[in-house]
Amino acid sequence: MTTTHDVINPATEDIVATIEQADELATDAAIDEAARAFPAWRDVAPGDRARMLRSFAATVEDHIEELARLEVANAGHTISNARWEAGNVRDVLNYYSAAPERLSGRQIPVPGGVNITFKEPLGVVGVIVPWNFPMPIAGWGFAPALAAGNTVVLKPAEVTPLTAIRLGELALEAGLPEGVFTVIPGKGSVVGERFITHPAVRKLVFTGSTSVGQRVMRGAADQVKRVTLELGGKSANVVFADADLELAAATAPYGVFDNAGQDCCARSRILVQRSVYDRFMELLEPAVKGVRVEDPSLDTSEMGPLISRNQWHTVASYVPDDAPVVFRGSAPEGDGFWYPPTVLAPVGAEAAAFREEIFGPVVVVAPFDDEADAITLANDSPYGLSGSIWTRDVGRAMRVSRAVEAGNLSVNSHSSVRYWTPFGGYKQSGLGRELGPDAPDSFTEVKNVFIATEG
Ligand code: NAD
Repeated sequence: MTTTHDVINPATEDIVATIEQADELATDAAIDEAARAFPAWRDVAPGDRARMLRSFAATVEDHIEELARLEVANAGHTISNARWEAGNVRDVLNYYSAAPERLSGRQIPVPGGVNITFKEPLGVVGVIVPWNFPMPIAGWGFAPALAAGNTVVLKPAEVTPLTAIRLGELALEAGLPEGVFTVIPGKGSVVGERFITHPAVRKLVFTGSTSVGQRVMRGAADQVKRVTLELGGKSANVVFADADLELAAATAPYGVFDNAGQDCCARSRILVQRSVYDRFMELLEPAVKGVRVEDPSLDTSEMGPLISRNQWHTVASYVPDDAPVVFRGSAPEGDGFWYPPTVLAPVGAEAAAFREEIFGPVVVVAPFDDEADAITLANDSPYGLSGSIWTRDVGRAMRVSRAVEAGNLSVNSHSSVRYWTPFGGYKQSGLGRELGPDAPDSFTEVKNVFIATEG
């Protein structure tokens, strides 16, 4: 029996599409087709593969507005964010379109012959995508994987399949051969599990929760399958007394409430030096109240709804009636999964709201005494994805950046993801890195060949 999934607009609760879910047979058929398409794709001349990826990027460019509108309806992203996200897919494709012609091995000096290495594609790569950033996270997986000569099967999250399905169609329109990039909507327990167990899938790129990531890694062990994991986060925004406090406070809401806080890099713990704590909170209040939470299809919207009713309940559970709410922003009433930006303070390091990834617009604020205290608090987490450091002291910026156990730090900024630079987590935030100049390497095996020249 075919199963379907109703895709809900989180801002209105209307059904926007009904999507057929692939079963195990359909998943196997798609993986088998990707495996059949692999040898020919691997053997496409590097310059031709580059051209096809640039054509894919150009086709995405021609559909930015359509993709963005689809994401607003499917995921409740603000239209300005959604345009950026579709543009990011184009940029990442263009960036990695340069890789096929630069995927060089090495010639290593050895006695008795010539030694060369090759970077060879793995085969079929399975990309499993969460619902919070359906387009960019898909692109960070499929673009370097395709550039390195692999074929890709991609499973979007059940609740946000629409833009991924469209990207799959655009790839074909752009001239990628059938089977090279296939989007398979369906359940994690069916399609995702089959990616883990199917022997033709040689690598898994998983982005999602730490608990499912652990399951993916355990399952991958059976076939010693390669994995890249991008998991949860509980990142710190550390504000020192010598910082530009006005700027730190004005930007802090956007460092955590972007995408309604459903961002693995959300700076959801604001740590403030005690001597400026009161002043910082005075400045933070109008900044939080000024965040425009409204219909995400409006150009002025800065924050939309949460993704689902379930997520709404999860987020609300961190703000019980006796929670230390110091101030809140606003949110529309009526239909939709709206939740206002909420600030809890002061919150001790033992509280669930301080320790757990809330994945919603709820931030905790806690004071610290000195640099050592700030570092201890920032590192008091099983996660280590990103974080921000606000200070005017360059030496301190460097010391604290080196001491915080996280993969992506920004000083006097909340920037985490730039496709030119590596992205990924320490500790339970992940394994491996995406993006940046080296990403195609993680979709290759290094082969060493020695050629005897004597005897
Ligand atoms: P999730 O773990 O529930 O689901 C992620 C994907 O895995 C979905 O496509 C889901 O269908 C699939 N899945 C579920 N069970 C599976 C199974 N048994 N086998 C294979 N696949 C399975 O996560 P989510 O709720 O969609 O996303 C939110 C989480 O993602 C948050 O924890 C967030 O921090 C994390 N995230 C991390 C990054 C990063 O780059 N580090 C980026 C975005 C989101």
